[in-house]
Amino acid sequence: MKYYDLIVIGAGPSGIFCSINTAYSNKKVLLVEKNNKIGKKLLIAGHGKCNLTNIGDIKSFLTKYGTANKFIKTSLNSFKPKDMIDWFEKHNLPLTLIEETGKYFPHTMKSLDVVNLLEKELKESGVEILLNSFISNISIDKNNNYLIEIENEIFNTKSLVISTGGASFPATGTTGDGYKYARQLDHTVIHPKPALAPIYVDNYNFTELSGISFKKVTIKLFRNNSLIAENIGDILFTHHNLSGPGIIDFSRYVLKGDILKINLIHVSREVFENNFLKEINLNGKKTIKNFLLSFTIPERFIKRFLELNSIIENKKISEISKLERTIICTLSQYEFKVTRVGDFSIAMATAGGVNLDEINSKTMESKLHKNLYFVGEVLNIDGDTGGYNVQAAFSTGYLAFKNIVK
Ligand SMILES: Cc1cc2nc3c(=O)[nH]c(=O)nc-3n(C[C@H](O)[C@H](O)[C@H](O)COP(=O)(O)OP(=O)(O)OC[C@H]3O[C@@H](n4cnc5c(N)ncnc54)[C@H](O)[C@@H]3O)c2cc1C
Repeated sequence: MKYYDLIVIGAGPSGIFCSINTAYSNKKVLLVEKNNKIGKKLLIAGHGKCNLTNIGDIKSFLTKYGTANKFIKTSLNSFKPKDMIDWFEKHNLPLTLIEETGKYFPHTMKSLDVVNLLEKELKESGVEILLNSFISNISIDKNNNYLIEIENEIFNTKSLVISTGGASFPATGTTGDGYKYARQLDHTVIHPKPALAPIYVDNYNFTELSGISFKKVTIKLFRNNSLIAENIGDILFTHHNLSGPGIIDFSRYVLKGDILKINLIHVSREVFENNFLKEINLNGKKTIKNFLLSFTIPERFIKRFLELNSIIENKKISEISKLERTIICTLSQYEFKVTRVGDFSIAMATAGGVNLDEINSKTMESKLHKNLYFVGEVLNIDGDTGGYNVQAAFSTGYLAFKNIVK
């Protein structure tokens, strides 16, 4: 039997960062990964550029994690977004801020450089890494140490960190194993479902508009006629569904049958209708297409929208009937009925996971078993797009380390 101070299961950012910091504190650490390399999901993060964190203070970060915002506060304070920026700077991979979105990327814009740096740090800190390794059993011995069984070999550890990620993009290794381990260790798991995913809607008539986006539109989510959530963000029309940050950040809340109402014209219906009537008086010869273009709506969308409603694009606005005007005014709250959220194969995160009520948010330690920790996306934490998930992984991994070496 081999003995360790800490065994970490899962080499994503949370597990890696926890391992590195613990090993630098003179602890014997083993990191177990079932893939043939570490950080496979991190490699594809941010389209291969790796969006590591975002601009803003902790208060603004706390609005990005849905119902987990209170839970994650201590983690974020223990390793702040600024600490992330400093850590990479100190390790000769400074981050670059993209002003428009507030996102931070490595200045090389390569996820591979992030993973290579973490790999180098794992080596230098002395973490032992076991790749291609699958755990067949986890148990607790009479001394309250954890026994990890891998291919008939038993590894004994005082502390155990489960950092196996969620269930999205299973090809990267995240097939929900952590939920199984959590249940074996008496924890409950909030039903995992796809988050940060595109949304499919009924009668999607915009396939040929694929690639068209609207900037900073207001999106409202209604269920049984009640407003459930509201968001301002960019949306993207794709071949088969609605996507873009404004939509995918919303996906954690969405259920089949919900109604999305999107304001595509950036002004209220009243303002729009008043403008419409004013313009009819002042510029009645203007075409409806040109009138709509003044609301920064992409031309291809206008053409498709008018076509769908059998309105001729070159019709003079003075000739638009009352019924047609009512139809055009729906652009201020354009309705889509949700059929489903994109599945785990395309979702960038998992909503649901290990029940936060059973984890001490000040330490990341299980409330049910001493020296057992859960960090990163295996927990019921999912952030918005923009670097919030990688930041959560680093911060929760760091907080666990601080308690492990206490
Ligand atoms: C396409 C895509 C793009 C993304 N882009 C961004 C981005 O730019 N910015 C951002 O903030 N977030 C992004 N995310 C989300 C972010 O990558 C994750 O939230 C983050 O990687 C989670 O980190 P983690 O440490 O919890 O686990 P993960 O990174 O999910 O890693 C978990 C590891 O555990 C291993 N594992 C699982 N089960 C076992 C087992 N039984 N035994 C051993 N090992 C196991 C897995 O193989 C995996 O390597 C993206 C996600 C996707 C899918």
